[in-house]
Amino acid sequence: AKRQRDGEAQFFQQAQEDELEDRLTLERELKHAIDHDELCLHLQPQVDAHRQVIGAEALVRWQHPERGMISPGRFIPIAEETGLILPLGHWVLKEGCRLLGEWRHQPACCHLKLSLNVSVRQFQQPDFADQVLAVIQQYDAPPERLTLELTESLLLSDPDGTICKMQQLQQRGVSFALDDFGTGYSSLAYLKLLPLDTLKIDITFVRDLTLDMQATPIAATIVALAESLGLGVIAEGVETEDQRLVLANLGCRIYQGFLFGRPVQPESFSKAIQCHQDK
Ligand code: C2E
Ligand code: CA
Ligand code: CA
Ligand code: CA
Repeated sequence: AKRQRDGEAQFFQQAQEDELEDRLTLERELKHAIDHDELCLHLQPQVDAHRQVIGAEALVRWQHPERGMISPGRFIPIAEETGLILPLGHWVLKEGCRLLGEWRHQPACCHLKLSLNVSVRQFQQPDFADQVLAVIQQYDAPPERLTLELTESLLLSDPDGTICKMQQLQQRGVSFALDDFGTGYSSLAYLKLLPLDTLKIDITFVRDLTLDMQATPIAATIVALAESLGLGVIAEGVETEDQRLVLANLGCRIYQGFLFGRPVQPESFSKAIQCHQDK
């Protein structure tokens, strides 16, 4: 029995070492990827009640030369731990604003909003607001088309700083959405203080919605809360017509999810919008 235990211990130690080595390799390669254009943004449509595309969320992808496409679920946590999230986040900001600048000159896209994910560490940089404004200016992006998606965990550390940066950007036209809403620890008192535009209902609450069960109380509560705070609400992860119907009955009018479109390359996204409008 002892030998078996030793064997197991060894096995787990080996597995841990492999995992660590994997992460170290990934960290090194990610650093390289940020500087060498191996990252790209994919765009997922956000639609209104008439299925008209009103905007898109940009989701980062890593096109690894050997390993193929690596999903953000794998590399964002590593980027957060190692601090690489700062250069990565800045790359996303630049690429997003570059797209917005391009859309200005495309009649099919010039009315669309673009949402970018901002991680807590990125937002907490003292000069974050100045960085955003500088990049907006650099690419001649219309600030009123830019939405930044923040998460509730921002509020845990420095609410005053958060509010201050948000106000600075909002004054220039930038909007804010609270991502994954309902999964964190938002204090309702802070929620009221934040200059937010939109709450995004997390996919986990949308997943459970079916016509016969009606809405989970959570989705219903989020929609009601948004309404009472004067905020818009977007449901993410909408995959079925049933889910969309239940959400519509609750009063949620903006949707994002595979039912309406998967994240695709920006060129395919613009083309799809154009074709749709030409019809
Ligand atoms: P998120 O911000 O909650 O993004 C939504 C995720 O749900 C995306 O996964 C999207 O592809 C997926 N999704 C959208 N519609 C559906 C649906 O109908 N069904 C299902 N099952 N999934 C759907 P993705 O692209 O793998 O991104 C995962 C997470 O990585 C994001 O979650 C976000 O937290 C993070 N992330 C992505 N891009 C960035 C970025 O540029 N910066 C930062 N800081 N984080 C990012
Ligand atoms: Ca998001
Ligand atoms: Ca989300
Ligand atoms: Ca999520």
